[in-house]
Amino acid sequence: MAAGSRSVKPVRLQDPLTALPGIGPALATCMGALGLERIEDLLFHLPLRFQDRRHLLPLNALRPGMECATVGEIVDLQRQQGRREQWLLLLGDGVAAPLTLRFFHLSPALRQQWQRGRRLWCFGELRAGARGVEMVHPEWQLADRNDFRLPEHLTPFYPSTQGMNQQQWRRFAGMALALVEELRDPLQELLPGWPTLADSIRYLHQGGQRAPAASDREWQRVALDELLAHHLALRRERHRLDVQRGISCHPDPVLWQRLRGHLPFTPTAAQERVIAEAVHDLAGTRPMRRLLQGDVGSGKTLVAAAVLLHAVAAGMQVAVMAPTEILALQLHERLSSWMQLLDLPVGLLLGSQGARQRREVLTALRDGSMTIVCGTQALFQEGVEFSHLGLVIVDEQHRFGVEQRRRLLEKGIVPHLLVMTATPIPRTLAMTLHADLDLSTIDSLPPGRQPIETLVLADERREELIGRLHHLLEAGRQIYWVCPLIEESELLQLQAAEASYAELQVALPATAIALLHGRQRSEEKAEIMAAFRRGDVRVLVATTVIEVGVDVPNASVMVIENAERLGLAQLHQLRGRVGRGAEASLCILLYHGPLSVKARERLQILRESQDGFVIARKDLEMRGPGEFLGIRQSGERQLRVADFLRDEALMAMLPELAATLERSSPTMCEILVQRWLGSASAYAGVA
Ligand code: ADP
Ligand code: MG
Repeated sequence: MAAGSRSVKPVRLQDPLTALPGIGPALATCMGALGLERIEDLLFHLPLRFQDRRHLLPLNALRPGMECATVGEIVDLQRQQGRREQWLLLLGDGVAAPLTLRFFHLSPALRQQWQRGRRLWCFGELRAGARGVEMVHPEWQLADRNDFRLPEHLTPFYPSTQGMNQQQWRRFAGMALALVEELRDPLQELLPGWPTLADSIRYLHQGGQRAPAASDREWQRVALDELLAHHLALRRERHRLDVQRGISCHPDPVLWQRLRGHLPFTPTAAQERVIAEAVHDLAGTRPMRRLLQGDVGSGKTLVAAAVLLHAVAAGMQVAVMAPTEILALQLHERLSSWMQLLDLPVGLLLGSQGARQRREVLTALRDGSMTIVCGTQALFQEGVEFSHLGLVIVDEQHRFGVEQRRRLLEKGIVPHLLVMTATPIPRTLAMTLHADLDLSTIDSLPPGRQPIETLVLADERREELIGRLHHLLEAGRQIYWVCPLIEESELLQLQAAEASYAELQVALPATAIALLHGRQRSEEKAEIMAAFRRGDVRVLVATTVIEVGVDVPNASVMVIENAERLGLAQLHQLRGRVGRGAEASLCILLYHGPLSVKARERLQILRESQDGFVIARKDLEMRGPGEFLGIRQSGERQLRVADFLRDEALMAMLPELAATLERSSPTMCEILVQRWLGSASAYAGVA
């Protein structure tokens, strides 16, 4: 049982796993499935939890549900016939009721060892059996042998995989730990007073008097190592871009100034500031990589238009991408209406377009006669050639897809890039996760926005609600009625929306109601949206296709069905479709009871706050950062030791540590990235 007691051959941490005695190609393959390749990787394969085998519990203290070690004298070995043969080994101490150890398969050789009167140690989980407590297939050892010893340390329990057991993990981890002093510690000198990496790793594998906790300095030291590795990888990507030459230009404000003169409002100071930041990037020699965060309704589209016009005036071609067809259509409509004022046509490229239309757009993009184009990811698919693409703007996403970037790069294009998102993340988090991007934030909404009154209503009160809607319609209001995802199926979602659509048509016979969903053809969707915008349609029943970005200022009432099933960020996005006009808006969150504690809390937060940054933070706290919208979606790797929320204080240390390390030891940077991200780095090779 004691790990690491065998002599270890002179192997190095950087050797492949098979250099360790006992690991052949088959085991190496098993461990490879968990991402382990070299001996050093074993050091960073940390225990999930610990078992305490240092002490023995007396038989009379054993209770079902405990996981513990005990020792007793073999009283009897019984064979039990049933559907399956079973063996029951009874351990006693002459006082307490005997403990039953139950085995389903038992070799005769083992049975031979278990003679009456011998002392046996066992460890396992206790459950209630027919004759008192029992353990099923416990770990065991004869306890009356000379070499029997209780362990001094806690016993680690490792994340495992098929073909490996805990004894093996412990043995191999022990072998790797014998080499832990070889570990290169990039931060030793930079973090005086902190435990060394070697000590920290040893502690995380062995524990101390108690199991390691995330608040321990040792844990934090390793978490910092991991966060720094991710941060460095992103910075490296950033540096790679810095040495590439972007399409440098002299951004020209002339067109933007003309548009400004036509606008019915003046841009806010926050909008002006972020426009200036992006325009400054355009003038630089390295390509812009900028993330624009701004709450729903903060006016990001206008910022996009301003930046775009600076680029166009400087002779660039510009592509604006949205994640869905509806959004692309709307973006196209909005930009067109502005560009029209300047006699600039805006092209449109969607996956669902007819061949002829598509061909026309492709030709115009290739020969350069089309300078501004809006679309979905169809913009960056095979067969699309640009003549002088200089700027890409991506709406409602955190990241420009790795795949899309690769495509452009293959064509030798390194455009300026502006990504816009309404899902803000806290600044420290953003700086770590998006170390490859510069950050701009619109921190205030356009003036004159009315707060949105938010009500939470049980769906038994639907009829009452519809009665109230009737009055609102008579007062000239327009209404969104959203039927969000109930099952993970677009079809079921559609059925739910169709049912509500039918119900509303019956309840409000004199009202123009339309149904919008993801399966409609894009022209059909565009027509419905246009009719709603014109006010010809008064109630729009929709699936969550309208989730982000849809902008119809006169729609000031929103009903969200099954609100209890949605996450905070999603509800905030949806609600952000109202509150855009001069009128006070109303959002009704319908729920189907009974509400879980978490759901109740979510709806409460929404009722109390309308600030996307506050809501994003609550969301992060409630969901756990792994699930945080935008992290998983953007395909970032999951962290193994660190935690974005808990370790915010560590993240604040990253920029300075990274800069220092890059200056003092590029080799160490490389070692760190290799250690945590491996050769298959999620960020490698993608500019
Ligand atoms: P989002 O940031 O959510 O994409 P939009 O760009 O859709 O926000 O803008 C929301 C609404 O605010 C639009 O109707 C837009 O025309 C309007 N808007 C944008 N900027 C201003 C401003 N400075 N003053 C008044 N209204 C504005
Ligand atoms: Mg938008």
